[in-house]
Amino acid sequence: MAASTPLVIASGNAGKLREFSALLADLALEIRPQPEGLEVEETGGTFGENARLKAVAVALATGCWALADDSGLAVEALDGAPGVQSARYAPSDPERIGRLLAELAAANQARAAAGLPPQRRARFTAALALADPSGSLRLEVEGHCLGEILEAPRGDGGFGYDQVFLVPELGRSFAEIDKATKARIGHRGRAFALLEPGLRQLLA
Ligand code: IMP
Repeated sequence: MAASTPLVIASGNAGKLREFSALLADLALEIRPQPEGLEVEETGGTFGENARLKAVAVALATGCWALADDSGLAVEALDGAPGVQSARYAPSDPERIGRLLAELAAANQARAAAGLPPQRRARFTAALALADPSGSLRLEVEGHCLGEILEAPRGDGGFGYDQVFLVPELGRSFAEIDKATKARIGHRGRAFALLEPGLRQLLA
């Protein structure tokens, strides 16, 4: 395949685009954003299903290779919420964080009333899917990162729920770590590490 194969990142999320551009920097690809106005409905019940839907739809709409990510946060005490609804949990990042902290506080109050200890464990997941220009799925992987939900936001980097996601081994929130560290230990970076060999084989 040619040295500068176009690869469309099937996402309108600027934070994800930044992370992907950095992860893909040393592959000889021409990274393109998803065409404006193209909205793919995320009707799947899992991260994997939604990633597949987005990769196929964007490949078919553009005639290019398309890489999609569906990701989100599952909080144990909230039975996995916000999960696949992470992006739609509230209208803005601060409101999504506010709702998450309020619901977790309520869940932990109910646990305390039942004599149970507080529970703040959470897991980020990133499902990645790569579709070829004809819309056929070629690669699928999933990466995870385990952590805990902080009681209040910390740090000012990143996006989404980064400020309230603590990585216990580092003692820092996702919003307090540099890009290289997030690429190494974060859910998207871990998923990308699984995808990269296949991506190089198909596209580089
Ligand atoms: P979707 O994959 O576009 O449906 O959106 C996933 C949503 O999950 C984002 O809008 C964020 O709210 C959240 N999310 C996914 N990955 C991250 C991350 O690395 N940090 C913080 N929030 C994230």
